[in-house]
Amino acid sequence: MMIESNSSLKAFNTFSIEAKTQSLFHFKTLQQLPELLALVKRVRAEKRPVLILGAGSNILFCEDFSGLVIKVELSGVDIIESPESYQLQVAAGEDWHQLVTDSIDKGIDGLENLALIPGVVGAAPVQNIGAYGCEFKDFCESVEYIDLDSGEFFNLSAAACLFGYRDSIFKSKKMENALITKVTLTLPKKWQPHSRSGVSNQSDAAQKVTAKEIYHSVCQTRSEKLPDPEQLGNAGSFFKNPVVSKQQAEHLLNLYPNMPHYPQADGNIKLAAGWLIEQANLKGVQCGGAAVHQQQALVLVNQDNACATDIVELAELVRATVEEKFNVSLDHEVRFIGSQGETNLKEVLQHVRA
Ligand SMILES: Cc1cc2nc3c(=O)[nH]c(=O)nc-3n(C[C@H](O)[C@H](O)[C@H](O)COP(=O)(O)OP(=O)(O)OC[C@H]3O[C@@H](n4cnc5c(N)ncnc54)[C@H](O)[C@@H]3O)c2cc1C
Repeated sequence: MMIESNSSLKAFNTFSIEAKTQSLFHFKTLQQLPELLALVKRVRAEKRPVLILGAGSNILFCEDFSGLVIKVELSGVDIIESPESYQLQVAAGEDWHQLVTDSIDKGIDGLENLALIPGVVGAAPVQNIGAYGCEFKDFCESVEYIDLDSGEFFNLSAAACLFGYRDSIFKSKKMENALITKVTLTLPKKWQPHSRSGVSNQSDAAQKVTAKEIYHSVCQTRSEKLPDPEQLGNAGSFFKNPVVSKQQAEHLLNLYPNMPHYPQADGNIKLAAGWLIEQANLKGVQCGGAAVHQQQALVLVNQDNACATDIVELAELVRATVEEKFNVSLDHEVRFIGSQGETNLKEVLQHVRA
């Protein structure tokens, strides 16, 4: 039986927050599609929400979920080789890091900078995962999804996915019915290291370095820098790096000449949220069982049996302190899920404090 009732989601979110869902469906094969579509219809007729879930590494369950969670566990990887490239057709439930590891082991280079990002392949296009100067969009050819209302399949080209910084069309309201089933990636055989790969960038070293070396270097750097969710619950970077106007960045640079800043193509400037949080002396600060990570200020952790409210209160403390000190507003990258579906920090706080 693939449908469970009143199930705990603790094992299905990397914050390890206890929350229950009224219904849970494990979507393992496309043969289950008629059953799934009928279930979605029934749940929606009861005015209950539907949530598509991967590995829960970018989600905060703020309270029990009143609807249906569809846990996407579709599996399978097809590799099609041409003289110039490899095409990878990967089912949405495959583990992202395992895909990177297996490709590198097979001599298929390109994904090494994106090693050790938790989560499943189907979630990668949603926020256009990125690290060390590479993003999912750099390799994406197309994304296949099912519309959960009509049951129709669609295949969107990378251009139609409207990828941006931690963003894509799959985050927009009109795509909330889109359950991603498969992604197609193209990895050219002619490989070049990417500049911010975490290995020495001196020209000699950069010339000789292999994708496998970069892969190991990225894995090592990430394991040293980021807490392992298996040991300490977390959802990676809690906030997005804020983008401010050139004028505001110049004003801040006068006050803080060492502030990291990254000019964007549109003239605006991206700042490092982690640096702002650290400068606001928030490292190690706790709310109940939740804490700002000691080594990496951008990560909020479940230090000691935190409940969702602890994390929400801590996120608000960080947001408000950074705003007061720098006049920069931080937006959460982690998706907040309330009893009725997607919500945000402001709404959750109103609810918690009412
Ligand atoms: C320690 C740590 C480090 C991290 N480092 C990075 C990093 O370097 N770069 C980065 O970009 N992210 C990073 N993240 C965030 C996270 O790994 C990514 O966002 C990842 O893609 C989430 O995958 P998931 O399977 O856990 O998705 P979930 O958290 O389950 O879901 C995320 C969103 O995707 C939607 N979704 C999931 N599957 C599907 C599907 N099949 N169809 C449609 N929608 C779907 C969900 O509804 C939800 O809105 C990190 C997280 C952790 C815990």
